[in-house]
Amino acid sequence: MAGRLHVVATPIGNLGDLSPRAQETLRSVDVIAAEDTRHTQQLLAAFGMRATLVSLHDHNEAAQSAQLVGRLLAGEDVALVSDAGTPLISDPGFRLVRAAREAGIQVTPVPGACAAIAALSAAGIASDRFVFEGFLPNKSAARRERLQALASEPRTLIFYESSHRIADALSDAAGAFGPERHAVLARELTKRFETILDGSLTSLIDRLASDADQQRGEFVLIVEGAPEADGDVALVLGRRAFALLREHMPPSQAARLAAEISGAPRKRLYVVGGDAD
Ligand code: SAM
Repeated sequence: MAGRLHVVATPIGNLGDLSPRAQETLRSVDVIAAEDTRHTQQLLAAFGMRATLVSLHDHNEAAQSAQLVGRLLAGEDVALVSDAGTPLISDPGFRLVRAAREAGIQVTPVPGACAAIAALSAAGIASDRFVFEGFLPNKSAARRERLQALASEPRTLIFYESSHRIADALSDAAGAFGPERHAVLARELTKRFETILDGSLTSLIDRLASDADQQRGEFVLIVEGAPEADGDVALVLGRRAFALLREHMPPSQAARLAAEISGAPRKRLYVVGGDAD
């Protein structure tokens, strides 16, 4: 019988976040595929575990995936971990998971920490719809272009950033989204110097400029989405006005008045013989 591939989340700082199920899985598998075997060795040692490790990183993933699928097909159980958090989330593993699924291997997630979700859960920014953008490009022209393309995205935006580039990323974000766009900067989550700052992009830039400590560590930047386009606001207002007015006058007259009040096209508020779209 074929083995199973377990995709195991590890802590993003606080070792207390390695779940009992993750510990049990890491203890029981035949082999652990790790992004950096020394790093994972230290994690295992902290829990008094020993295991057979193989490295799986961006540069050897294609070849290693074939080897690991061979072991899975031969009946071995494999765990996939990255250095921190959930594998595949801005981390290697996608090719292995795909190869395993294509070979008919059962793939099981063992969920746990993920910096993006941890930051979002504490940010107080709309979380019903969000876009995970991972790392922005290193080069400033490409970074600005990426940010500019997101300027009118209405969903909440989530970025990963390192200490080397956080100041530049914030100032490019202010350039693309406007200095007043609301954002949250989550630093060193679950660690000793965890800090969660919120305010306009300019206020975050000022905070970092006035306190070099705030530029250290690992960051998640969450930016509020763009306000809905004016057209949509007009439509919402127009439909509301139409609903109220039609109680007191014929629908065509209510639609004309509602369109005047809101600026929305009359035809989108009321269509003779049917509902507006
Ligand atoms: N797979 C990981 C996850 O599930 O979040 C992310 C790995 S990615 C290579 C590393 C980036 O995640 C860091 O540069 C930082 O942007 C973010 N990150 C990881 N740990 C963090 C923490 N404790 N606090 C804030 N951001 C963190």
